[in-house]
Amino acid sequence: MKTVLLVKYGEISLRKGNRAFFEHRLLDAIRHNLKGLGGIRVMREQGRFLVESVEGDLDVGAVLPRIRHIFGIAGFCHAVKTGERDIKGLCAVGVEFFVKQLNTLNGVKHGTFRVETKRSDKNYPMTSTAISAAIGEAVLDAGVELAVDLYKPDITLWVEIRNDVYFYVNSESGEGGLPYGASGKGVLLLSGGFDSPVAGYLTARRGVEIVAVYFHSPPFVSERAQDKVMDLTRQLAKYTGGATLCVVPFTDIQVFLKENVSEVKLTIFLKRAMLHIASRLAEKEKALCLVTGDSIGQVASQTIHSLAAMETAAAFPVLRPLAAMDKQSIIDIAKKIGTYDISVRPYEDCCTVFVAKHPENKPNKAAIEKIETRFADELAAMVDTALNAAEFHKV
Ligand code: ATP
Ligand code: MG
Repeated sequence: MKTVLLVKYGEISLRKGNRAFFEHRLLDAIRHNLKGLGGIRVMREQGRFLVESVEGDLDVGAVLPRIRHIFGIAGFCHAVKTGERDIKGLCAVGVEFFVKQLNTLNGVKHGTFRVETKRSDKNYPMTSTAISAAIGEAVLDAGVELAVDLYKPDITLWVEIRNDVYFYVNSESGEGGLPYGASGKGVLLLSGGFDSPVAGYLTARRGVEIVAVYFHSPPFVSERAQDKVMDLTRQLAKYTGGATLCVVPFTDIQVFLKENVSEVKLTIFLKRAMLHIASRLAEKEKALCLVTGDSIGQVASQTIHSLAAMETAAAFPVLRPLAAMDKQSIIDIAKKIGTYDISVRPYEDCCTVFVAKHPENKPNKAAIEKIETRFADELAAMVDTALNAAEFHKV
């Protein structure tokens, strides 16, 4: 009997056609994050992954923090593995393990229990029910002071019959979602605020590989604003196992637009310029979509009218995972994923520089497009310049 981790990946098993691809992605991510810890093996084990030490027990405390946040993992079972196949031997291992577990758990020594068996190896000569009954009986024979309750037990001893046999009592949930990169790539417009990091997290959780882009306008915004976005990218990378931030100089475009459009319309044109640049970047990076932190009605530039007037600047679908969420729910996620403490640092936002106190909140899409045609060529040239000067940071 040796201590191992069984990794469950619920959702990807539903996607039959792509299953092998998704499994590989996930297996790679787990191996990647465990690099540096020697003597560990990660293998497929009939619909689960097995993480074990090449020799002896696995140091679960060292392994789990490195893989806990990987997208696509539904849960972790703190299991023991045995090569024993014969039911008598399984009963002995099961009892030994279960008694040890009871000794480390408080309060369940006098409650109820059940044994629940999953039999992935259909060649095993007994049914799941018969295996559960045999092991349950052995537990009672061993003199534990627990009664059987098949429906609402205080504690369940799980038995999984696979290539080897696994026992566990404790399991914990993973991040869920789909393996990172399994849904293609997207360009995330990442500012220093609360919203866009959450949008990036939610999109990455659905398997979209993220290339973040930040539009930087020195000296209107300080270098600290860029550091903040860098830190946000690093925080997101904890879930994805790496990320890229592209910093695009935006000052010239910002000054140009200030001089060419009315103050109440400036935000819309700034956002359109961002979408133009992000689209070019997406093309270069072979991405399939753009992602923003817009949330309906949060500010004047996020009314549906404004979003519609911006959208036509994008050459790719614009995903807005926060569109229908309210601020508190967004903040709650930001706290959970560790971006809140970074976003809360004071900073200047380039979209607030030069912008009117009361920007237009029902811009007319056709009118906006018409205005932009007046300076489209100049803007296109500035977009080229900005892209050529963009800096890429890998974290
Ligand atoms: P956030 O909290 O993400 O900053 P916000 O509520 O401040 O959003 P806006 O400033 O209107 O709202 O920005 C809306 C979206 O536009 C952001 O979520 C982000 O996706 C994008 N965006 C805004 N400014 C920048 C920037 N400087 N660099 C990259 N993306 C930006
Ligand atoms: Mg902002």
